[in-house]
Amino acid sequence: MARIAEEWFAICGGCEVTILDIGEPLLDLLPQLEFVHMPVLVDHKYYGQTGEKDKLEIPEADIGLISGGVRNEEHKVIAQEMRNKCKTLVALGTCAAFGGIPALGNMYLTDDIYEKIYRQSETTESADTPNQKIPPLTDRVYAVSEVVPVDIVLPGCPTTPELVVEGLTAILEGKPLTLSEKSVCDECPTIREKKAVSTLKRPLESCEFTPGEPLDTVRCLMEQGYLCQGPATRAGCGGAEGTPRCIRAYMPCRGCFGPIREKANPMVDMMGALSSVGLDPKQIPDRPATFNRFAGAQGRLRPLPKR
Ligand code: SF4
Ligand code: SF4
Ligand code: SF4
Repeated sequence: MARIAEEWFAICGGCEVTILDIGEPLLDLLPQLEFVHMPVLVDHKYYGQTGEKDKLEIPEADIGLISGGVRNEEHKVIAQEMRNKCKTLVALGTCAAFGGIPALGNMYLTDDIYEKIYRQSETTESADTPNQKIPPLTDRVYAVSEVVPVDIVLPGCPTTPELVVEGLTAILEGKPLTLSEKSVCDECPTIREKKAVSTLKRPLESCEFTPGEPLDTVRCLMEQGYLCQGPATRAGCGGAEGTPRCIRAYMPCRGCFGPIREKANPMVDMMGALSSVGLDPKQIPDRPATFNRFAGAQGRLRPLPKR
């Protein structure tokens, strides 16, 4: 029986729902798992059930799952406690792996974020920045691996049920989990004709396809003029079927599986890919945020210089 501790930091909760979405394979896994700490599921308090302890404690576990990036000082303490108590630590989902959507905030200084939220927001009465009983924000959003060593990364926003099963099974069997080093394009069945296009279309405009016909009769969405981040995104979201999740729905890839390699720069990769089909990357007004939409931690997004 493997003991599991799970924590959530700066997140939406979607990666926890992915665990519930595992479906039937969860029935095979559950008899091997014991959840000892999971705020979304288990009422286990940090300082003892009646607050009797003076030090934050998480039970010892074989597997630690963390979703969400580190956004405040409390997250840092919990991440360290998870690392201390869990034999194998897993970054669950793209927020934990690369900062995810919350790391778009890394384009702004923390003081400017407080200013905008508490004093400049059109819909909120101006107020002081709260400073009691809530942990202060860190200077930016950190991927979990920037704060404590992480053993396994399960990318995706949300990550996929198949990948969670694969990751947990690998840990239970003592085997390594190797992520794909291909791009989403490598697993995309659409037709590439290498014909240039000049104008970017809005993603909500429907792409050209014939209902009922297979995807290998559809022209590559980027060659149809959509901003598809398949060239700069790690493959793997398609599970056993292989075909990327969004492409199956005739939607362009938004890059949620993160960069193909640790040191890759999605902005550089996408500028090259767009140019290769004749699209001028300058048509995209907010390039750093758009191309690093899911991967703003690890230094990929920084505050813009003040003008
Ligand atoms: S990776 Fe996506 S689904 Fe998962 S917690 Fe972050 S925002 Fe939510
Ligand atoms: S750019 Fe998008 S649509 Fe085109 S091959 Fe790559 S993933 Fe598929
Ligand atoms: S196609 Fe791209 S955005 Fe869609 S699930 Fe796959 S990696 Fe994420």
